[in-house]
Amino acid sequence: ESPVPSDIACAHSVSPVNIGIIARGLGLDESEYDCYGKCKAKVKLSAYQNRVGDESKGEGKYVVVTGITPTPLGEGKSTTTVGLAQALGAHYDELENKVVACVRQPSQGPTFGIKGGAAGGGYSQVIPMEEFNLHMTGDIHAITAANNLLAAAIDTRIFHESTQKDEALFNRVVPLKKGKRVVSKSMQMRLERLGLGDKPIEEFTQEDMARAARLNIDKSTVTWRRVLDTNDRFLRAVTIGQGPAEKGYNGETGFDITVASEIMAVLALTTSLGDMRERLGRMVVASDMDGNPVTAEDLNIAGALTVLMKDAIEPTLMQTLEATPVLVHAGPFANIAHGNSSIVADQIALKLVGDGGYVITEAGFGADIGFEKFCNIKCRYSSYKPDCAVIVATVRALKMHGGGPEVVAGRPLADEYLNEDIELVRSGCSNLMRHIGNIKKFGIPVVVALNAFASDTQAEQDVIKSASMEAGAFSVQVSNHHALGGAGALDLAGAVQQACSSPEKDFKFLYPLDLPIKSKIWTIAKEIYHASDVKYSEEAEKKIELYTKQGFDKLPMCMAKTQYSFSDNAKLKGAPTDFTISVDDVRASVGAGFLFPILGKMPTIPGLPTRPCFFDIDIDTETGDIVGLS
Ligand code: ADP
Repeated sequence: ESPVPSDIACAHSVSPVNIGIIARGLGLDESEYDCYGKCKAKVKLSAYQNRVGDESKGEGKYVVVTGITPTPLGEGKSTTTVGLAQALGAHYDELENKVVACVRQPSQGPTFGIKGGAAGGGYSQVIPMEEFNLHMTGDIHAITAANNLLAAAIDTRIFHESTQKDEALFNRVVPLKKGKRVVSKSMQMRLERLGLGDKPIEEFTQEDMARAARLNIDKSTVTWRRVLDTNDRFLRAVTIGQGPAEKGYNGETGFDITVASEIMAVLALTTSLGDMRERLGRMVVASDMDGNPVTAEDLNIAGALTVLMKDAIEPTLMQTLEATPVLVHAGPFANIAHGNSSIVADQIALKLVGDGGYVITEAGFGADIGFEKFCNIKCRYSSYKPDCAVIVATVRALKMHGGGPEVVAGRPLADEYLNEDIELVRSGCSNLMRHIGNIKKFGIPVVVALNAFASDTQAEQDVIKSASMEAGAFSVQVSNHHALGGAGALDLAGAVQQACSSPEKDFKFLYPLDLPIKSKIWTIAKEIYHASDVKYSEEAEKKIELYTKQGFDKLPMCMAKTQYSFSDNAKLKGAPTDFTISVDDVRASVGAGFLFPILGKMPTIPGLPTRPCFFDIDIDTETGDIVGLS
């Protein structure tokens, strides 16, 4: 049993500093941020743009925190990200903040479902953890709103096109006002694409009007789904259009969790407001009757989506328990999405800390998914190269990989996890060693952060230390930041500083983009998962052919895969070999900029357990304090 108080008790052990002080410590001008209450501020993209070209200040070192294959309880990546930032921050005086942690905004799915919040834990947390874990500054709600506006636009457009004649439809989408046609920006782009850009609208033939106004969406090809940030499994498959006014235009669709929306991925991968508008416009939602992609721009909605997302594009500045600045932004999961916080947050952070500073950014779940996508997707779009990777390991998870009983959230841990068991740890190190080898393929040094639990023994930790060095780690450090805050992670911080200045660095991607789709999938399967074969369903084959024909085959791959195994079978622990992965489907996120192969059956909206976290969450109605949030 950990002697450390509960996460919420630790989070309440200090009062947060006014966020304006944190912002000024980072060198932000008052015009570069807007406060949301006392503890949060939205940082404007001008904070980056104003510093581009000012080479005197330079940019900080870029550290990515990843993990071994986790248990459902989490192995402490967020906790370590925060703890490491606190430790590195301890080197600087209070008014010179040269460290920023970049983390994702948590989804309310896990917060009320199985895992709980994601502010870190113990004395390494983002505070106020209630504001962080619940609505924060509303970015996820904005994504829900934008995603569902687009869903409504698609179904309604199909409905209107089927009930209106060509000319009437044209007159509605390009209306005549005071004798002049109102042509929206999107419509002008469409007319140009159709070769009608220069033709006076008065001279349009019946056929021109039909081509301009009719998207002819093939209803059976609509890939855009609705989203909700709640683990509501009963919305996985739904029938829409049951009301009498919809005249029988019903259909099958479903909901994903908001963090799996392509709009979340766009937010995480965009670099400016203009770029976000372009990406939102490029999102492909269906094919037309001739097999051509239909985009959000075709639906005239890219501008409105950008308007809904205009505040969400600004990262939220918060702080750790030790007043280290934290930029919270975007929140894609790493199993069903690309799993990394935003490029804009990292961009701003790297400029703000400047030369001599550090940006610690977190990649979700294990290194086989979050870190792989960090390198091959996020870094490809941002052009940043990480200076080192930190991989978080725990005795607990390695015991599970060594053959220990299944770890189930909400149930007490088995004895094996509470008492010393050297053999289980030794055998489970295969998982850590494989991840270290994989990370080294990207050409950067790997520091192992052994996140210490009260039940660990010295002998167990020693086994992990020697396995790490044998696998080629740059360094391995036991870290006590959960119990001690930054003071517990000073050794880890020292190792990270050394790794960042190590000359042995040659960051590279795992695959070039011009490989065919299947070759990219095979490269990841072979080099990262160590699979022996890849099998494709008929649906996947069809989609690969379609996307190749549509010209989307040069995009990087965002594998949707269980986080609990290197393979697509959550039960295969450790470092499995001789397994085949099955690609059941492939989806395209053209706006975000990746194809999305789905391995095995991956639910894109989680369910709730019998005893979800919300059982414990309540409010003290006298004081207004939230209790039971973890
Ligand atoms: P991850 O980011 O890997 O999913 P988190 O950092 O969110 O994991 O941690 C998951 C949970 O484990 C949190 O509730 C945290 O308080 C707890 N935890 C993390 N590290 C430790 C530790 N060293 N000792 C005890 N509990 C820990």
